[in-house]
Amino acid sequence: MIQQIDHLGIAVRKLEDTIPYYEKSLGLKCHGVEEVESQKVRTAFFDAGGVHIELLEPTADDSPIAKFLETRGEGIHHIAFRTDDIEGQLKQASESGVRLIHEVPFEGAAEKLVAFLHPKSTHGVLTEFCMAKHHDAAGEGDSMVE
Ligand code: ZN
Repeated sequence: MIQQIDHLGIAVRKLEDTIPYYEKSLGLKCHGVEEVESQKVRTAFFDAGGVHIELLEPTADDSPIAKFLETRGEGIHHIAFRTDDIEGQLKQASESGVRLIHEVPFEGAAEKLVAFLHPKSTHGVLTEFCMAKHHDAAGEGDSMVE
């Protein structure tokens, strides 16, 4: 089941040029910069009342974010829904006719399992599902993270 919007992914050219806007102009606190090698991005996270902002900077010319910046420029890249059952969520989407980018979830930033739906099937919004890796079926998840 989808629990809430987990984060908005925003494509930027340089984290260092963008972080001051979120920190100084908006007053949000950056709580972590992390490289996700599999996706060829560096990420910076901000918490806005439980929903996170995930800035994405490409680390290679063939990064998906580099391609996005080339064609669309900086801006909102994807929306991520937090789920307690990422496999079930993918199955539900797939069975209803949505094309998946990832049939199998992989490890994204912040120790989460993530998978994307294809934007051609999602009315223009690149959509991510994410689930805490140390998910506890009882609900709360264990508190290793944060
Ligand atoms: Zn994301």
